[in-house]
Amino acid sequence: MAIDVQNLTFTYNAGTAMEQRALDDVSFSIRDGEFVGLIGHTGSGKSTLIQHLNGLIRASSGRILYNGEDIYAKNYPMKDLRSKVGLVFQYPEHQLFETDVFSDVCFGPKNLGLSREEVEKRARHALDLVGMDESFYEKSPFELSGGQKRRVAIAGVLAMRPQMMILDEPTAGLDPRGRDEILDQIGRLNREHGMTILLVSHSMEDVARYADRLLVMYGGKLMYNGTPKEVFRHYKELEKMGLAAPQITYAVHELRDMGVPIDPDITTVEEARDAILALLEHRGGHPRENVKGGKA
Ligand code: ADP
Ligand code: MG
Repeated sequence: MAIDVQNLTFTYNAGTAMEQRALDDVSFSIRDGEFVGLIGHTGSGKSTLIQHLNGLIRASSGRILYNGEDIYAKNYPMKDLRSKVGLVFQYPEHQLFETDVFSDVCFGPKNLGLSREEVEKRARHALDLVGMDESFYEKSPFELSGGQKRRVAIAGVLAMRPQMMILDEPTAGLDPRGRDEILDQIGRLNREHGMTILLVSHSMEDVARYADRLLVMYGGKLMYNGTPKEVFRHYKELEKMGLAAPQITYAVHELRDMGVPIDPDITTVEEARDAILALLEHRGGHPRENVKGGKA
């Protein structure tokens, strides 16, 4: 098991007139290799929660076990935790400051006190993982597109060789192409490199497509913890929390209301396509080849 969060509670400005309870008795765990989505309306406590997971914020009460060890125990190596659990903040490109891409990605591993050879090896590998080849190395971060800048910032965290990556709305403010590139790369880190991922997202479509499991926050409380299908079954309750199901799920429900016997738990466009094609084939009237455009 990677992370076990037990009864976590956190209050900002405790004991003052500005007191604000941001986390209220939150418990869950994340296993090695999982891809978990974290959703919730603005102010629900997502950013506060993830900063606890690498030790940036200390809980008011509750425990966090990382690989079975209590991170609040005396002598726990908190600095190691920060490199093992890589945290990519919202708008991480605001933290790019070196004159060129390669130096920027070297910054983190250099601070770990590694040899120059090892630092450069890690930087190359990290840039490769986010799909940036040598033609980018000498560029100023300011010459890059929004999506490219963000990939450099993610590479900077990857170069620390974390076991787990937490990304706070990594697609916010990007165009559709930049979004897809980032999400595909995160998906690949998980599938091909076994990296544990916790993705904070506003997009129900994105988490339905990529996450194995969803955590839903509301008013500092963890309301749901389940597969996307289990969670989106509660779409009426989610709407009361300022959330929704993916649009395709609503379309599927409308088809059912019209009498079409389609699975109401569909959460991605690909699943809907396959289910509709299967229904058409079953009826015999529209063979699959015709629907696909005549290619057998
Ligand atoms: P989210 O990331 O889901 O939008 P946050 O974790 O940022 O939610 O915020 C949770 C709650 O804590 C909100 O009520 C927010 O106003 C409050 N909060 C967040 N950061 C601070 C802070 N630095 N000081 C005081 N209150 C804060
Ligand atoms: Mg936030």
